[in-house]
Amino acid sequence: MIYEGKAITVNMIEGGIAELKFDLQGDSVNKFNRVTLEDLQAAVAAVQGNSDVKGVLVTSGKDVFIVGADITEFGDAFKKSEEEIAAWVAQANVIFNAFEDLPVPTLTAINGIALGGGFEMCLASDLRVMSDKAKVGLPEVKLGLMPGFGGTVRLPRVIGADNAIEWICMGAENRADKALKDGAVDAVVAADKLREAAVAMLQSAIAGELNWQARREEKKAKLKLNAMESMMVFETAKGFVAGQTKGQYPAPIEAIKTMQKAAGQGRDKALEAEAKGFAKLAKTTESQALIGLFMNDQLLKKKAKVYGKTAKPTKKAAVLGAGIMGGGIAYQSALKGTPIMMKDIAEAGIELGLSEANKLLAKRVEKKRMKPLEMGDVLNRIRPTLSYAEFNDVDTVVEAVVENPKVKKMVLAELEDKVREETIITSNTSTISIDLLAADLKRPENFLGMHFFNPVHMMPLVEIIRGKKTSEEAVATVVAYATAMGKTPIVVNDCPGFLVNRVLFPYFAGFAGLLRDGADFQAVDKVMEKFGFPMGPAYLLDVVGIDTGVHANEVMAEGFPDRMKADFKSAMEVMYENKRYGQKNGVGFYKYETDKKGKPKKVVDQAAYDLIAPVVAERKEYDAEEIIARCMIPMCIEIARCLEEGIVDTPNEADMGLIFGIGFPPFRGGACRYMDTVGMANFVALCDKFASLGNLYKPTDRMREMAANGESYFG
Ligand code: NAD
Repeated sequence: MIYEGKAITVNMIEGGIAELKFDLQGDSVNKFNRVTLEDLQAAVAAVQGNSDVKGVLVTSGKDVFIVGADITEFGDAFKKSEEEIAAWVAQANVIFNAFEDLPVPTLTAINGIALGGGFEMCLASDLRVMSDKAKVGLPEVKLGLMPGFGGTVRLPRVIGADNAIEWICMGAENRADKALKDGAVDAVVAADKLREAAVAMLQSAIAGELNWQARREEKKAKLKLNAMESMMVFETAKGFVAGQTKGQYPAPIEAIKTMQKAAGQGRDKALEAEAKGFAKLAKTTESQALIGLFMNDQLLKKKAKVYGKTAKPTKKAAVLGAGIMGGGIAYQSALKGTPIMMKDIAEAGIELGLSEANKLLAKRVEKKRMKPLEMGDVLNRIRPTLSYAEFNDVDTVVEAVVENPKVKKMVLAELEDKVREETIITSNTSTISIDLLAADLKRPENFLGMHFFNPVHMMPLVEIIRGKKTSEEAVATVVAYATAMGKTPIVVNDCPGFLVNRVLFPYFAGFAGLLRDGADFQAVDKVMEKFGFPMGPAYLLDVVGIDTGVHANEVMAEGFPDRMKADFKSAMEVMYENKRYGQKNGVGFYKYETDKKGKPKKVVDQAAYDLIAPVVAERKEYDAEEIIARCMIPMCIEIARCLEEGIVDTPNEADMGLIFGIGFPPFRGGACRYMDTVGMANFVALCDKFASLGNLYKPTDRMREMAANGESYFG
């Protein structure tokens, strides 16, 4: 044994080869946390001092190679100043460089996932052999960062600047064939041949048959590009990436700039540039938001795991109503392996549901994401029916019939008699209170909300709504079923609009007020899209359906009359009265034409302006700041209320609900993170500026208290 630490051991194996093995104790994966970095430093020093070592083989003792840096350590590390962060990264680079500069050849055997710092470790070695099952990549941009352990320096020197820009800016996990084609690894072998192949290649290097020294020098030298090529590669990439990221994600551009700046430098100077770029990005609000999302996602996974312990398995499911939502739910359940009965009262409904599933599956086959044979298997998991026969062994049912409380109550009562006592019954209602639907049920403890979003196969969120009488076992069972369907469940308590619609409709109310006061809906859409939403409020209402919007708005107004009951006629209501329901019937705020690909394309329609003219003030220009404030304040205050009333447990879940449910801009991290970024004192002051607009703009007492105490949601 040459070295033994908590994360790394070094042992002599055959022919003068020292095996440096990553195997972090007490963890299921290897990651670059503080302990691992310290170990690497000590392990390299131990190898340096051992003259018997002729070559170093880097391996992993786990299924993965190294998954990346330990993101949970970023929070504290990034509170430091930019200079301190750069110094911390520089210190890590001293360790990576010491490894790279060992006087013997080094080779990494990549057995599993090697991402971020994990792949940067691979790049620091002279040679790389990869299992055909492994994946490698530098996904730092997804956290609003760029590689910091030499990735922007070594990767372009190994695979060329153009390839490296693609790898770093896309942040993808690359399969072995791609890694080999681009030159990121020297060989790809079957998983069970990895060790043998790695040892053989290292022995060739030790024997002088492979010029490992040249490979190393290449990584430490300037980039091989002349001034003209350099300009072409970097400038073109910057232009392209700027177009893609719309100025909302600074990380990829900063990474390109850093690579460009360092192109004419040797390794050490280039690493200094990288450390500066990394530190600059670490201090951006975008990286804080994106790292926050990663942490929120971890929290949700942890919660789902806890629920999983008390969940009853859903081996067979059923959905009532084979419409837009029912069809989508059946498809998703079957796709992910849970057989499902799909019941409707009309043959036509069933045909529609099945043909939707068929279309989606055919598309997967066309895109080679599924084999034709598997498509048959998935379809076989959907059992269409017009009767309740075969409902006696169903574990979980999702009711997705028309949004009418009387119909739903009738259907649920009927259903309760057709299933076993322990069957869990859920409703996909978007607006009706779960407690109201549960009121006449015999087993309200087995009833709850399971609110999917449209289109079901695309939208990751499922709101799980706990009624007053719902049992925790029922909640757990439905969380587990949603997870098995590949969705992200968030558990909330019952209230009008649940979580997502409850905070979305105040936003629409803010929008309605702006129109009333003379703002142009197109201008509002543009500003909110620039703010980061995939669509502005007018366009979103058209997509959701103006009829659905009006109906849901009535529910919200009844539930929260103090702030949601408008004392004016809104432009949305005018659209509704004129049967302009949005995309579904081709006219709403905009007009929809079919483009060459058969997709709806929105165009401006003067008729919409003429229709709303009687209910809006004379056209007035609003600056972007005011538009943003008037739309965002009502949404943010409502999320604060949801937290204070215990509708949702944590700001983490609240923010994830908005990101997954309404496309809240990820680089802003969600409404709670957004208030943190603005600062609660500033936010409350902004609310007060708009106090004349009424209760929608009135912060809660708790928000004022937070402002006074300098508190934030994420500390
Ligand atoms: P839809 O009109 O497309 O489908 C409803 C289906 O239910 C029809 O096929 C109808 O034949 C069937 N049906 C009616 N009575 C039935 C009964 N007694 N038994 C079995 N089937 C019956 O409606 P949808 O848009 O799919 O909405 C269904 C539910 O999902 C509603 O509660 C709605 O609020 C909710 N929801 C809709 C969306 C959306 O965007 N469409 C989003 C989230 C939730």
